[in-house]
Amino acid sequence: KAALLIDGVEKVYNKGKPNEIAVLRGVQLEVAPGEVVAMVAPSGAGKSTLLHMAGLLDTPDSGRVVIAGDDLSGKSDRARTAARRSKIGFIYQFHHLLPEFTALENIVLPQLAAGVSKRDAEAHGMDLLGKVGVAERATHRPGELSGGEQQRVAFCRALANKPGLLLADEPTGNLDPKTSDQVFDALMTLARSTGLSALIATHNLELAGRMDRMVRLENGVLVDA
Ligand code: ADP
Ligand code: ADP
Repeated sequence: KAALLIDGVEKVYNKGKPNEIAVLRGVQLEVAPGEVVAMVAPSGAGKSTLLHMAGLLDTPDSGRVVIAGDDLSGKSDRARTAARRSKIGFIYQFHHLLPEFTALENIVLPQLAAGVSKRDAEAHGMDLLGKVGVAERATHRPGELSGGEQQRVAFCRALANKPGLLLADEPTGNLDPKTSDQVFDALMTLARSTGLSALIATHNLELAGRMDRMVRLENGVLVDA
């Protein structure tokens, strides 16, 4: 079954008002297990709206969002929050690491919250940091890390609780081209080594071309790109 199925999703803002806007008009997308899909979209096309639907942060007006076979469209907020925390990892353009904690602690804390022992959480955290090449920065705080290092730590944090699905919104958007390349490689290494499925929004067509598949959001629907 698909890691993510978005089936006929529609979203209208300001319904019935003069400024009504139909942002999503029947979006269709299936992300297979282990597949990394790039989403490109002009600004204002509805990329954030779609990622919010996929991440169970907002509900469609119609259509279904199914995560690993679990149709969460009509479920309670409580069920959706539980699914979001256990099944989905998020990465943004800016990392949002906790500044007063070390890199490792930033990855350990969400695991402790999920009931993992400190010892296992630290071992898993170090393993993740090693995979993206920043293990030697484990005891540094975010302010002591470069932008690229901070973002790689943020990837590890997003994957700390082993979600099957990663949603990323411009994950390399604030980095220079060379750093952006390194950070993207780190992300792909992590994804490939964990069998992660991902939907990654990016303006960078070169990076998009290195993912498994590219889709474009335009006029409220997704088309192959
Ligand atoms: P993108 O991320 O592709 O730039 P968004 O999903 O943020 O696009 O927004 C798509 C369109 O929907 C824009 O025209 C935006 O102004 C509008 N929009 C987004 N969120 C809201 C909201 N909460 N209420 C009303 N309009 C919104
Ligand atoms: P917690 O309360 O455990 O931090 P939540 O269930 O509130 O987690 O959120 C889970 C994930 O969803 C977090 O990684 C967070 O970054 C993301 N998230 C929560 N609310 C929003 C939002 N309004 N916009 C974008 N991302 C959000």
